[in-house]
Amino acid sequence: MTESWFGQRRRRQLQRFLQKGKLTILCLFLTIIVLRGNLGAGKFGTPETDIEEIRETFSFYRKRVEPRRVLEEAETIKNDDASASGNNYATFDINNMFVDEEGDDIKPDPNKPYSLGPKISDWDEQRADWLKRNPNFSNFIGPNKPRVLLVTGSAPKPCENPVGDHYLLKSIKNKIDYCRLHGIELFYNMALLDAEMAGFWAKLPLIRKLLLSHPEVEFLWWMDSDAMFTDMAYEVPWERYKDRNFVMHGWNEMVYDEKNWIGLNTGSFLLRNCQWSLDILDAWAPMGPKGKVRDEAGKVLTSALKGRPVFEADDQSAMVYLLVTEKDKWAEKVYLENHYYLHGYWGILVDKYEEMMENYHPGLGDHRWPLVTHFVGCKPCGKFGDYPVERCLKQMDRAFNFGDNQILQMYGFTHKSLASRRVKRTRNETSNPLEVKDDLGLLHPAFKAVKFYAVVFTLDLELPFPFLSFPVPLPPPLVGEITFQSGLGSE
Ligand code: UDP
Ligand code: MN
Repeated sequence: MTESWFGQRRRRQLQRFLQKGKLTILCLFLTIIVLRGNLGAGKFGTPETDIEEIRETFSFYRKRVEPRRVLEEAETIKNDDASASGNNYATFDINNMFVDEEGDDIKPDPNKPYSLGPKISDWDEQRADWLKRNPNFSNFIGPNKPRVLLVTGSAPKPCENPVGDHYLLKSIKNKIDYCRLHGIELFYNMALLDAEMAGFWAKLPLIRKLLLSHPEVEFLWWMDSDAMFTDMAYEVPWERYKDRNFVMHGWNEMVYDEKNWIGLNTGSFLLRNCQWSLDILDAWAPMGPKGKVRDEAGKVLTSALKGRPVFEADDQSAMVYLLVTEKDKWAEKVYLENHYYLHGYWGILVDKYEEMMENYHPGLGDHRWPLVTHFVGCKPCGKFGDYPVERCLKQMDRAFNFGDNQILQMYGFTHKSLASRRVKRTRNETSNPLEVKDDLGLLHPAFKAVKFYAVVFTLDLELPFPFLSFPVPLPPPLVGEITFQSGLGSE
């Protein structure tokens, strides 16, 4: 009984299911008819083309909804950034971080002539007195080895393109290497000390400030951020400049006879710490203040100097102009150097690096192996340069690697090529690392060695160690004598 009741119930369920199924099939059929009507059949109306067209149609609908999806995603990223976890460097805009600080400066009085600072006329005396009182801060760190401060810098804000900052980093790494090897101190400036003297003039107030704050420094070496050392072994012939105060790369004839605006270069120069230098800085500065003064001075320079294009006054043209117009006053203490590349124009050097590597060796400093390669006009940190960006950056990389090879060589490595960031080994590791040959002598260069005057003496006192014998540095009074033996150079 229960069985037949169950049987009847199941049959009824089956009938209902079949009826519903018929309805579903009918619906499906109608849907296909409608879809074919709306979308049209493929060229031949085959099922494959139908499916293809249907797929495309649906993807069209999907594409139409995509912008909204993208918007939603962008919203999410934005919200993420705004939240405390904003940790995406790739999308962060650094400019949002800096408030506009312009306009805060005290406007200079237009009636007052520009000055770098209060007049100082007894700097040599002040400095000599300081050196006498501070014998441990000698201005000479060895015979014919002045204490040198290399000064460079760049604008306070990031470069226009982050790649510019990468090259600033390479350039400072290059200078750190040279300075470490040559016992030179390094100062990197990013502050605009005087708003009037922005851009290439920024070095003037900075140099004056550093000379006055560091009487122990005998020579200040200014070097542009776009200049790199390409000879790590070359030591400046300091002895040659014992009677000079200002050393720039240049040619006397080009400056004094031709009045050529490229007769000297101010991208890498040496300036002695003395009264004469403060005076020439004062004489150099008046064309610097930005705006009307600099623009008007630019016209004077263009008409007075050979080959100068029309543009605002720059520090280099102003120096040529000063030497030409006041030769008697300055020329005697200025040394225009061209025996080696204190500054080397990149255009004539970079394509010859391979040739140099084949025929010569570091330590020459001149056309055979230039001390400095300077990328004049490239402006890797700015918006526009005077040369194609790709050539500038490629060649800056080559110059960097050319210099860096001399550093890597000490440690048994070299760049795979001048165009490569990657390095390869030049020798096998050894268990006697101190016996490795240092070909260029750069690991322990003589010009860096600290002179310990091995005054060996015996303490004959009643101490636990009755016979002590050790080298001691030169006692202070003697250091003082060395200091003054070389003079201040300004007389
Ligand atoms: N400089 C600076 N602060 C600035 C702008 C420039 O210290 O705000 C320095 C930087 O070292 C730069 C140098 O001034 O290398 C001179 O400019 P640049 O090298 O672009 O001139 P170029 O050698 O192409 O004539
Ligand atoms: Mn430069």
